[in-house]
Amino acid sequence: MNTQSKVGARVAVNGRDYRWPATPTVAICLDGSEPGYIERTIERGLAPNLDRLMRTGANLVASSVIPSFTNPNNISIITGAPPRVHGIAGNYFLDPATGEEVMMNEARFMRADTILKAFCDAGATVAAVTAKDKLRALLAKGLDFASGRAIAFSAEKADQATLADNGLANALDFVGMPLPGVYSAALSEFVFAAGVKIVKAFRPDLMYLSTTDYVQHKAPPGSDVANAFYAMVDHYVGQLDEAGCVVALTADHGMNDKHLADGEPDVIYLQDVLDRLLGAGVARVILPITDPYVAHHGALGSFATIYLPKDADRRRVIDTLKSLPGVDDAMDNAAACARFELPSDRIGDVVVVSGRNKVLGATRAKHDLSGLTEPLRSHGGLAERKVPMILNRRVAAPAGPAFRNFDVFHVALNLAG
Ligand code: ZN
Ligand code: ZN
Repeated sequence: MNTQSKVGARVAVNGRDYRWPATPTVAICLDGSEPGYIERTIERGLAPNLDRLMRTGANLVASSVIPSFTNPNNISIITGAPPRVHGIAGNYFLDPATGEEVMMNEARFMRADTILKAFCDAGATVAAVTAKDKLRALLAKGLDFASGRAIAFSAEKADQATLADNGLANALDFVGMPLPGVYSAALSEFVFAAGVKIVKAFRPDLMYLSTTDYVQHKAPPGSDVANAFYAMVDHYVGQLDEAGCVVALTADHGMNDKHLADGEPDVIYLQDVLDRLLGAGVARVILPITDPYVAHHGALGSFATIYLPKDADRRRVIDTLKSLPGVDDAMDNAAACARFELPSDRIGDVVVVSGRNKVLGATRAKHDLSGLTEPLRSHGGLAERKVPMILNRRVAAPAGPAFRNFDVFHVALNLAG
């Protein structure tokens, strides 16, 4: 189908209209890209394309969704809506239907359609490539692979991609790279390499690329490891730009040091605090950062939610949590949902967020910290909310509230010149 004939059309999804792209439009979520990473790499002369884009296009700041974790933010970006609308409030949650703690990585947990699905249904060619497979099923929700106009796969399981399930077979041959390790910078490089190949082979109308924050968890801005990673990003962003794409780059969340001077993680073990306050096991601490990739962060982040028995004194719990050094804020379910636009049935009775250099745990024994080969860097709280939004086009920024990261498709399709 000649999708050029649709230029001028608009596609509505989740309460917002998007303009049909006149040229392939690529939104990139650079996982954990705390402001400063790109700038330090540019200062060393290692990111000439980003340097040029940020001067001639748009160099904006946006805010992430809270919790500043991967799944809630990626799903906000791909739906253009906050968790209250799409239902994904963490990587991990307590399913009220079963009382079990489960990963929130299945499409059945999503309550909204994606922007990609809406465009694909309207006749567009769309693609999504993610580093970790945990996101693939969510990003690909509702895509009709039989249409021949949808591609969605992960770098992690690129060797298993099929035409029927992913819209592309032999992904390793197609990309021309070996299967990358799940804990590697190459996992993200594979995403970019795939994106460039997809643009050249299929000229998709809309594409979403989502990397992993393996490097950002291990290496601060300005370090050699980080600079090498962003030099790689710069190389591929340059290729997408050269191919005529509109490129819009943002992040799911930032990243901060979360350790003591001796390198040990700086943790408040909440289950211990609450066991002392209420009795052993009365409260149930859920850490929505939890995922199978423990080497990144040992399930230690700056956002936690707590389930309490009906008769528990919530005020006392909240006041106790607020009094802990390093806690930024604690609030009940209603206040958290109002402030952070969260789905109230997917979080506990109390929400607590910790500060810039502090993380929240359950009990020490529950955390596998064996993969933390570097002093802990993590995210989840308000201090990791600020993220970049960079485009290779100028942006007509309307007066009004600042951009959220999940405005990235809106900015790229509706506001970019
Ligand atoms: Zn992330
Ligand atoms: Zn992370």
